[in-house]
Formats: sequence, structure tokens, C-alpha cells
Amino acid sequence: MIKTILACPNITENKNVRSRNEHPITHLATVVNWTPAAIAHTIHTVRIICIGAHPDDCEIEFGGAAYKFAASGHAVKFLSVTNGAAGHHVHAAAELAAIRKHEAGEAARRLGIAETEILGYNDGELLATLDAREEIVRRIRQWNADVALTHRPWDYHPDHRYTGQLVQDSAYLVMVPRLCPDTPALRHNPLFLYLEDGFQLPAPFVADVAVAIDDVWERKISALDAHASQFYEWLPWIDGRDVPVDHRMEWLSTTWGRPISKCARVALTRRYGRGEVQHAEAFQICEYGRRASRQELDDIFPR
Ligand SMILES: [Zn+2]
Repeated sequence: MIKTILACPNITENKNVRSRNEHPITHLATVVNWTPAAIAHTIHTVRIICIGAHPDDCEIEFGGAAYKFAASGHAVKFLSVTNGAAGHHVHAAAELAAIRKHEAGEAARRLGIAETEILGYNDGELLATLDAREEIVRRIRQWNADVALTHRPWDYHPDHRYTGQLVQDSAYLVMVPRLCPDTPALRHNPLFLYLEDGFQLPAPFVADVAVAIDDVWERKISALDAHASQFYEWLPWIDGRDVPVDHRMEWLSTTWGRPISKCARVALTRRYGRGEVQHAEAFQICEYGRRASRQELDDIFPR
């Protein structure tokens, strides 16, 4: 997990007295008197897995921050729990699943993230089953994730809801060796975070950290552009919109340039001070994994 160690002799000297259960980052923080997050940011490749229901969900809610993480040398994986095979009015399921896999690969390439994967659950048919939960547990363990992001379990789309439920249910179990013994359990509990949504019941989204993405907005739009079957075909069809034949990237940028929510704006101001930000992504801490202060989130997330 730790890629490089600072050249600090005290770290070596004190390594042997670290208690067995103490996370190495916490130990180093004690030794060099920095906050754990500051050290993690300096010496630690953060391993992030974003788990969406469909092959474009991670790009929509996390594409800008994912690009920034990856550009800073951190390891980002997108995982889609369903194959996305229901999201089209023309293509048959098997044909669409292949198209969407190709599109997800191209989006990952444009964002520079390390990996993207699509599980085989059928789009529109996902349930919070034991089988699906075990697949999620395995993927989080295999990625050796420090951070896992997903939907909140309150959302208009059942696949989003059940994906959020499945990831929440995995938050503790990733550390339990007797469950899914074919994949070694994690010895640290990842930080679990929710992607932003606008739903108000039973509780509105809370922005614990926000990332300004104006400087990488075009890159994010390029990732959405890679999902042509969705952003230029399926979604306009179901919303009854026309897509201009020319300059469709500009159209995409305008259409998906959603206003920043009030809570995200507060989080932005807290982090960046007052200033004009047009595009941002915000995230909320899930209570079920490792807990982190807002200061630690500010240290972990790119600016
Ligand atoms: Zn979705």
C-alpha cells in the first residue's frame, strides 16, 4: 500500500515498536508529528474505487475528481455493478452491453484512471443479494481500497439504491476474513463516501468535501462524450431532447453543467475561500466505514 517512505531515520528506528494493530500511517504521524492525512497525502498512493450502478455513473458524479486523483499519481478504479444493457431504445441487450463496455474503457483512457470493470448483473434487475454483496466485497479487497465511493441508498433508480446498499453492507465485511475467504480480507477499514444526489427524503445529501473541477471540466465532458450511446442517444431519447449534429460536445457541456448545490457551495467556500467556481463534485461520509474529519478529507481529496 505504501509506495515510498520519507527519508526520516526516526521512522525506521521506531518501526519495531509499532503496536500490531496500529495503521502504519497513524504510526508515522506520531513519529514525525504530522497529521495522518498529511503524511498519507505525501507518501501514500491512495487507492480509490468508485462503485456505480451503470457504466457511466462514476464519470457523471466523480469524473473530475477522479481525473485529478489519477493525475496526482493515485490509483483509481471505476466499477459498474450492472452491464448497462437496458439503457437504449434501439440496441439489443447483448449488443448494448458490448458497446457500453467499450465506451467505459474509452472513458477510463480519457480520464487516465488505472482500471475500469463491469460486473455481469443485468441493468434494471439488480437486487441487494448475498451473491452481489460478495462480489462487491471481493472487488474492494482486491483493489486494496483506501477510499470507496458509491450512490446513497435513496435514489430514483433501483439499481443505484441497491448498489448503495450493497456497498454500505460491505463496509465492515471487507475486514472479516471468514466471509469470502477466497479473497484476503483487508487489515484496514476503507473510508466510504457517497456521491452527490439531489434527493431530500429521508435525508438530504450533506457535502463533507467538495472539489472544484473548472480546470478539468473539459476532461470530464470528454469522458461523458465517450459514452455516446448514453449522452447522445439514450438519455436524449428518453428525455425528448434533440442533439445538435454539430458541436455536440459544447451541447454536452451546457446540458451537464448543473448548478452547484447550496451544501456543495458551502463546502467549496470552506475549502477554497470565496471565489467563482462553476463546476464541482461533492462527497458525503458514510457512517459505516472508517470515519474521517473534514480536515482529513481536505487533505486526501485533490484541489
Ligand atoms: Zn446510473
